[in-house]
Amino acid sequence: MNFEIARKKMVQEQIVGRDIQDRRVIDAMLSIPRHIFVQEAFAAQAYNDKALPIGEKQTISQPYIVALMSEQLALTGREKVLEIGTGSGYQTALLARLADRVFSAERIRPLALRARKCLDSLKLFNVQLRINDTDGSPIGWEEEAPFDAIIVTAGAPAIPTILTDQLARGGRLVIPVGSDSTQQLLTIIKDENGDLFQAPTVECRFVPLIGKQGWQV
Ligand code: SAH
Repeated sequence: MNFEIARKKMVQEQIVGRDIQDRRVIDAMLSIPRHIFVQEAFAAQAYNDKALPIGEKQTISQPYIVALMSEQLALTGREKVLEIGTGSGYQTALLARLADRVFSAERIRPLALRARKCLDSLKLFNVQLRINDTDGSPIGWEEEAPFDAIIVTAGAPAIPTILTDQLARGGRLVIPVGSDSTQQLLTIIKDENGDLFQAPTVECRFVPLIGKQGWQV
C-alpha cells in the first residue's frame, strides 16, 4: 500500500472535496502521515473516511472532522494552542504545524506515551504533553494560560468555563458539546472585551470528556 498516494486521495476527496479551504490546514494534512498514529492492524485503513480505534476504548477522529476543527481555529502560525485529549497525537501533530506552540493534555498514560513517540519521530518539538490521569482531573492547563486557541477532542456536556477562562481575548475554542452519544461542534470566540460568541458547525460523535466539567467515570 502506498500511503502517500492514499493520503493525497484522502485530502482531495474528503477535505478539499468537502470545502475545507484553509490552505495551511490542507498542506498540513498532506504532510502528516496519519497511518503512523493508528495501531498497526489499522494502518491500511488510516486514510479512510472514518474514525478508528486507538486502544483504551478511545478513537482517532475522522479526517474531515480533524480538518474542520483545525480550520475553525483559524490559526496563522503565531498562536499558543491548548488541546484537551491528545489521544493518538494526530490532531496534535497538525496543530504543531499550524501554530507556534502546542500544549496537549491526555488522561490515559499509554496513549500519551505513544503519541509522544510519534510526535518525536516527526521532529515536532514545539509540543508539550501532559498526563492528567487522576479521576475528576481539572480540564485545561492553568499555568500556561491564556491560550490563543483551545481545541477539545472529546465531547462535553456543556461549555467548560474552566476553558473559556483560559482563552485569550480574540481567541477561539472549538469543542463538541451535547449528550454522551452525539454532539454539536461549537466554535466559541472571545472578543476583545472578553465577551463570548458561539456558532455551531456540524453534528459529530466523540468519546466523552472525563472529569471536572466533563462526564463522571
Ligand atoms: N485528537 C485525538 C482524539 C482522541 S479521543 C485523536 O485524533 O487521536 C479523545 C481523548 O480525550 C481520549 O484519548 C481520552 O482519553 C481523552 N480525554 C477525555 N477526557 C479528558 C480530560 N479531562 N483530559 C485529558 N484528556 C481527556
